[in-house]
Amino acid sequence: MEKREELYRGKAKSVYKTDDADRLILLFRNDTSAFDGKRIEQLDRKGMVNNKFNAFIMQKLEAAGIPTQFDKLLADNEVLVKKLDMIPVECVVRNYAAGSLVKRLGVEEGLKLNPYTFELFLKDDAKGDPFINESHVVAFGWGTAEQLARMKELSLKVNDVLSKLFDDAGLLLVDFKLEFGVFSDGSIVLGDEFSPDGCRLWDKDTKKKMDKDRFRQGLGDVIEAYEEVAHRLGVPL
Ligand code: ADP
Ligand code: UDP
Repeated sequence: MEKREELYRGKAKSVYKTDDADRLILLFRNDTSAFDGKRIEQLDRKGMVNNKFNAFIMQKLEAAGIPTQFDKLLADNEVLVKKLDMIPVECVVRNYAAGSLVKRLGVEEGLKLNPYTFELFLKDDAKGDPFINESHVVAFGWGTAEQLARMKELSLKVNDVLSKLFDDAGLLLVDFKLEFGVFSDGSIVLGDEFSPDGCRLWDKDTKKKMDKDRFRQGLGDVIEAYEEVAHRLGVPL
């Protein structure tokens, strides 16, 4: 597999073409951003931890029948993935209230949501990733009704699989964000990453935050918490 030119440099990852038109390389950097990219810092080992964490989770999801981008780990910071035509919509599933839901509705952080909620945000930093609904996705052509239904179905399946996986490791999966894309065969596939950068994980007993909120809220020991989660899950680092 030959790495070719950089296609895109995001806030946390760089995307490279390869000699295979259906494959890309994602390079996980140490850059850590919050507040739609308004705050950026370098955190030692983050690229490596998130790359390996993501590979572990994507393989668990694949084994549970969820189509993912994952092909193979290439290096500490690099993974080979299916090239997707990304749908610019973030799918957020919540099991407990936190973050923007708490701000928007004034509910208490930690409130159990019964059942879970499913939300959509437009992936557009300049607009602050606005909250949107299903009719916006179809009306503005970001995805078809069928693609959206599949994204929702897969998001809820991810929630079932990962809630159990984290629960077994003594962690509550509070919420998470997924991004999907369309593969060359037309199917909807889970892309981007699943790591503590894009989800909330609390220790079941102490409710200690073990995710990117440690960075957003200046709580310290950000990567140490990610490593602790990886260790509990058995992710080889
Ligand atoms: P951002 O764009 O939010 O700053 P990243 O730094 O994580 O995010 O950049 C990764 C970019 O690569 C994102 O725009 C994401 O949508 C895109 N991407 C992720 N996985 C794939 C994939 N399998 N195929 C094509 N693009 C992808
Ligand atoms: N999230 C993300 N990227 C975004 C927005 C949210 O990964 O651009 C994740 C976030 O880490 C959390 C979940 O999606 O796990 C819900 O985020 P929320 O809407 O509460 O927004 P926040 O207040 O975290 O920006």
